[in-house]
Amino acid sequence: MSTQAEFAGLVAIVTGGASGIGAAIARRLHDGGAQVAVLDLAPEGADPAHAAFAADVSDRASVDAAVAAVAERFGRIDIVINNAGIGSIGNIAANGDDEWARVLSINVTGIARVTAAALPWLRRSPAAAVVNTSSIAATAGLPERALYTASKGAVLSLTRAMAADHLREGIRVNAVNPGTADTPWIGRLLSQAADPEAERAALNARQPHGRLVSADEVAGAVAYLASPRAGSTTGVALAVDGGMQELRLRPIE
Ligand code: NAD
Repeated sequence: MSTQAEFAGLVAIVTGGASGIGAAIARRLHDGGAQVAVLDLAPEGADPAHAAFAADVSDRASVDAAVAAVAERFGRIDIVINNAGIGSIGNIAANGDDEWARVLSINVTGIARVTAAALPWLRRSPAAAVVNTSSIAATAGLPERALYTASKGAVLSLTRAMAADHLREGIRVNAVNPGTADTPWIGRLLSQAADPEAERAALNARQPHGRLVSADEVAGAVAYLASPRAGSTTGVALAVDGGMQELRLRPIE
């Protein structure tokens, strides 16, 4: 099988596929031969090479309608990439109940909504795979990210539970844990910092390889986990973080 044919004949949903990491994933799966459906709050930002559907992953009716539209358009769904997510800054006192509910609904329950809607189609697929975007925040304690971290920790645990529930139905479920990645999201964060250049340097330095992760690097890991060639890989989280989780380097003298 050539790399080009890896996803040939398969249909993939990518949530949050109109920007950043999701856009890179959509491009990678498309390059591998998949037909890609982007589900996004802002579908007009999607690459015209993909089919784009308006969807809010925090709204069940919106998700059900979009997934039904994908199935209607392509007649199958084989791969679901649950990538849509939002950030939240601060410690546990920084956000009220409404914000806690909003972030958890998008980052965590959104995965359940989208995957549940696609489940009847995944059960029929010969190569069903789900990949959830978690974060380094799920495995390392980062300052001022309490709510976001809680949401991404839940994504990691949910990934394992989903993998167990659906293994015998032939559906693999894995997660990817990116380190700080160079996307419009981080651009927005940097533009709000008092000294954006100093903030970027601090983020670069936090990762042992000394730079931000690229969206394409995350997309490569997601493509591996989603690939029919990874048939024995389920319930795992693949870190793409320049060594931030696992390595302890001595400072440069
Ligand atoms: P981004 O802001 O560039 O893109 C996010 C996309 O999700 C946007 O197109 C947005 O419209 C869409 N989206 C947001 N809320 C939505 C909703 N309710 N319904 C549907 N679509 C929605 O962000 P990114 O940096 O590409 O992040 C993508 C994912 O990667 C997120 O889950 C994020 O938590 C995770 N992540 C990012 C980083 C990073 O440093 N950028 C690191 C680790 C994990």
